[in-house]
Amino acid sequence: MLALSIASLPARAQMGDPTKVTLKTTPVASGVSMIEGANGFAGGNVAVTVGDDGVFVIDDELAPLSPKLKTALASLSKKPVRFVVNTHWHADHTGGNPAMAAAGAVIVAQDNVRKRVSVEQVREFMGKQMTIPALPLAAQPVLTFTEDVTLHLNGDDVHVIHVPAAHTDGDSIVHFKKANVIHSGDAVIPAFPLVDADSGGTFDGFIGAADKVLALADDNTKIIPGHGAVMTKADVVAFRQMLLDARDRVVKLMAAKKTVDEAKAAKPLDDMEAKWGQGFVHGDWVVASIYKTHVAAPAGSDKGHGKRGATK
Ligand SMILES: [Zn+2]
Repeated sequence: MLALSIASLPARAQMGDPTKVTLKTTPVASGVSMIEGANGFAGGNVAVTVGDDGVFVIDDELAPLSPKLKTALASLSKKPVRFVVNTHWHADHTGGNPAMAAAGAVIVAQDNVRKRVSVEQVREFMGKQMTIPALPLAAQPVLTFTEDVTLHLNGDDVHVIHVPAAHTDGDSIVHFKKANVIHSGDAVIPAFPLVDADSGGTFDGFIGAADKVLALADDNTKIIPGHGAVMTKADVVAFRQMLLDARDRVVKLMAAKKTVDEAKAAKPLDDMEAKWGQGFVHGDWVVASIYKTHVAAPAGSDKGHGKRGATK
């Protein structure tokens, strides 16, 4: 999800007051739990492992939830939080960084996450301009990587893998190899994708992210999406198919030289709304994001590129 929390009163009113939200912890697989808002929007889903090496966290929710997140983590282990991975820069996945870093955690993320959180970000979200301030220096990732990094913690090998230009240009998925769990950030979710084009996201990149998750998953893999309930490999197959179907329909409208407004008015994704449009993103936004970020495949190829810029 886009960074909804900071300095955005209409968005906050829409999301409810985060300080009223309580957190729920659910075991997902051996050694891995998920923490989420139980009665409202707390931010992105958190994955946590605890063990001899300490506490290891993927994403850390909206800033106002930090005291409750610390309490939830302390109920799993008295050991300190050693590392936090941010799956991308949005404030609903990095809002706890100041509290976690102040308590001694090392923040880890893809290079572009640090680039974006280190300066003010101005972007469009659902037709509204939003300004998101930079994170304080101490709350920015101190360990960054370009393609991937592996943390060897609590008996598991945790592979953090950059997936190019999907939700943003700094997305990572996190593969707990022994626990057979993947945290997919907002690059694979049980809903229409939110393409943050102003952060370098592309619709086509989501297909690549789904392919990457499917390449790592088996029928027993638990996939923790950035938002929503735990997914199976079959759910990711369905997500990928939805992306392909949506793109095919919208590309036909592009090929017929429809403007984006004409394409939205044609409601090409209406029959998908019931299953995929129940989150923050509706069909119109998907149509617009394909118009904005899809790059036609070269002749002879069956795929688009995960790059933006050529379409109008
Ligand atoms: Zn997001």
